[in-house]
Amino acid sequence: MRVMKFGGTSVGNAERMRGVADLAAAARKETRVMMVASAVSGITNLLLDAARAAQEGQPVESLHGRFEDVHRGIIRELAAELGEARLRSLEEGLSTLASELRGLLQGVGLLRECSPSVLAHLSGLGERAACLILGALMHARGLEPHAVEPRDVILCAGDPLQATPLQEETRARFTPLREAGGPGLMLMPGFFGGDTRGKTMCLGRGGSDYSAALAAAALDAELLEIWTDVDGIFSADPRLVPEAFPLPEVSFEEAMELAYFGAKVLHPKTIAPARERGIPVRVCNSFRPDHPGTRVTDDAAPPEHPVRGLSFLPGIALVNLGGAGLKGVPGTAARVFESMALANISVVLITQGSSECSISFCVQQADAERAVQALEVAFEMERAAGKVDTIEQQRGLAVLSIVGDGMRHRVGVAGTFFSALADVGCSIAAIAQGSSERSISAVIAETDGPRALAHVHGRCFGTTEVVELLLAGVGSVGGELLKQVHQQAPKLRAHGVDLRVCVIANSKRVATASEGIPLEDWKQRLAASSDGAPLDAFRDWARAKRPGRPVFVDCTSSEDIALAYPSLMEAGLHVVTANKKANAGQWSHYRKLRETASRHQRRFLYETNVGAALPVIDTLKNMLRTGDRVLRVEGILSGSLSFILGLTEEGVPLSQAVGTAMEKRFTEPDPRDDLHGTDVARKVLILARELGRQVELEQVTLDSLLPSDFDATGPLDDFLARLPQVDAAFQRRVETLRAEGKVLRYVGSVTEDGCIVGLVPVPLTHPLAAVKGGENALSFTSERYSPTPLVIRGYGAGAAVTAAGVLADVLRLVDGPLP
Ligand code: ADP
Ligand code: ASP
Ligand code: MG
Repeated sequence: MRVMKFGGTSVGNAERMRGVADLAAAARKETRVMMVASAVSGITNLLLDAARAAQEGQPVESLHGRFEDVHRGIIRELAAELGEARLRSLEEGLSTLASELRGLLQGVGLLRECSPSVLAHLSGLGERAACLILGALMHARGLEPHAVEPRDVILCAGDPLQATPLQEETRARFTPLREAGGPGLMLMPGFFGGDTRGKTMCLGRGGSDYSAALAAAALDAELLEIWTDVDGIFSADPRLVPEAFPLPEVSFEEAMELAYFGAKVLHPKTIAPARERGIPVRVCNSFRPDHPGTRVTDDAAPPEHPVRGLSFLPGIALVNLGGAGLKGVPGTAARVFESMALANISVVLITQGSSECSISFCVQQADAERAVQALEVAFEMERAAGKVDTIEQQRGLAVLSIVGDGMRHRVGVAGTFFSALADVGCSIAAIAQGSSERSISAVIAETDGPRALAHVHGRCFGTTEVVELLLAGVGSVGGELLKQVHQQAPKLRAHGVDLRVCVIANSKRVATASEGIPLEDWKQRLAASSDGAPLDAFRDWARAKRPGRPVFVDCTSSEDIALAYPSLMEAGLHVVTANKKANAGQWSHYRKLRETASRHQRRFLYETNVGAALPVIDTLKNMLRTGDRVLRVEGILSGSLSFILGLTEEGVPLSQAVGTAMEKRFTEPDPRDDLHGTDVARKVLILARELGRQVELEQVTLDSLLPSDFDATGPLDDFLARLPQVDAAFQRRVETLRAEGKVLRYVGSVTEDGCIVGLVPVPLTHPLAAVKGGENALSFTSERYSPTPLVIRGYGAGAAVTAAGVLADVLRLVDGPLP
């Protein structure tokens, strides 16, 4: 015996009904079959809307009309197949159901009241209508299904809208259908059973799955098939997480937890009856019958990941009972939950602080008010005595759960879960973990749900990680960065990293696009965008979108932007910067940056602050982390000055060399930052601070490359016009030194004595003499690297290497393996 349940979309129109008939006919060739059908999709909602409208005294004609039209439309399309006589009797059958509906709605309208019993009866009309049509179609194909009336076989008690089936009695009633010689093909409407008097008892929304499971248990079926509109149970709701994938297998327990915590694909109670009798369940797609779907069994193979799937249950309220007088009082929890049971409120999740001063639990939002009232009554005395001071509810919440048998005894799963929630700035109202360690749930704001779900999914399964890049500054480095991102994006995507540039700003304009700005025409986009204050735009975008891994990238040399990093971190952004102004600013700001980053768990990365993409900061951090003591750092830290000095050695006048360096974009926007040594001084300061020295920029001894009597003030153009005045003297100095076998190098150093920056004549045999043409070279003398220092050398200037260094920092935010 096989029980096949067809959901709303699977019987959604004439074409779909034909598909169902085909599937059932094929199965019948193999075994006896019980078909269980839902209402045509949308019909149950329509019936409930009609009942509500009638109760409120509103017109119901159009809703009633739609009930008839939808079904008549399907019948009309099947007419040719059905034949004259069957068509007529089917139309009569439908008219009878339609008048039953009309009568019920009239009654509700007159009384302005719709009792649960009436509502249950009315809700079941959709399943009855669908089965009427399906039955006629099967008959027309010569299959003769035996119509099973659920009110006769599924015996229920309790709330007519959330009925409790009585399984023993139900099994007894199914006996004639179960026994050998019983009907070979049966058809039963899902969603409801009946009470002892045969009145309709609904199994709750989505209850046809449960009907089918009850039938499967009562019929000793060898397989229960749930035919729906997706390829099985997915790792998460595919509507909310596009990367979710169908699971080939899950255990009964996993399926139960997923369904219980909101995976709509199965009614939460479906699995229990099947599991009790060891009946395997298959969830499959009626649109793609060849897809194997998901097998739910006792012996599901352990998953590759500890987490099998994620579920999301919206519409939840957290109820909290608190008071110092609860501490150590036995029986408090029992009384809390007894009061919920008496009020017929089901509790979704429970947490209790170890101080025992408060008990919190989640209920459906619709039950929250009654839950509070029930607690107020139950704890009236304690409230009067001041032992209980809070009974409150928090609405608008959702439960996000990770589920998997593989989570048992696995360390770090909860860590990944909660850190993923932190990534997206999601605060957690309560946490629960079942003692089976099969699920961990976090109660979060419902509005945070979809993006949190998608992000947690990415972290748990290593599916596509989205990195949202917000860029300030589109000059040489920023522009080059966009070029490199554009070029690398496809390769990164192939490795599961979706690097999107969501905001691009220059000092005046801001372009944004959450799905990513197309990088082939970012310039036009930016030019066409409206004016805006870039800093506000970054913060607002981050706060509004709360993306998973947003990184602010500073490719400006603006002091204002550098000062704003803490506020950007507070808004949820990681910060990657090529701008030295933040790390070279006031010590207090330097500290604040680090404190804010750690408080908000944001990364702050600045490898390009010294030596462009050369691994300077990282190397230094590693030396210190592993316990080395750095005694001295020195080197050529300015690619621009090394380029300029290189040219002067070839006889090029200084002013011309500066011009060439500017053309090649090797200098800072204002080359005086380089020539004065300020830029090198900043780098030396950053290195010194990296070594733990509390120094300010003013404490760096600085010797400008320009003579002290030269007026270097005023607008840039004026300065450049005056610069040739120094050429002759500079050239003389270079030549004199050359005669002595020496060259000029602009050297920065951090020693125990302090930080020094300036022109140093070095013999041609000195290692630094060979460093020119835009190169940087750094030597670290430490306890371990002594007497031979650790040396890093290579191009340390130019937009391409700097942008590459920035991109490398951005990619450090990604967890998974990269190309
Ligand atoms: P039916 O009408 O067939 O009973 P439902 O709409 O009740 O179908 O359930 C199927 C839907 O459940 C899917 O279309 C999907 O959007 C949703 N869903 C939610 N969570 C999951 C999940 N983990 N796996 C698959 N589908 C899910
Ligand atoms: N038709 C009912 C509902 O929409 C039952 C079901 O689809 O399982 O809730
Ligand atoms: Mg369903």
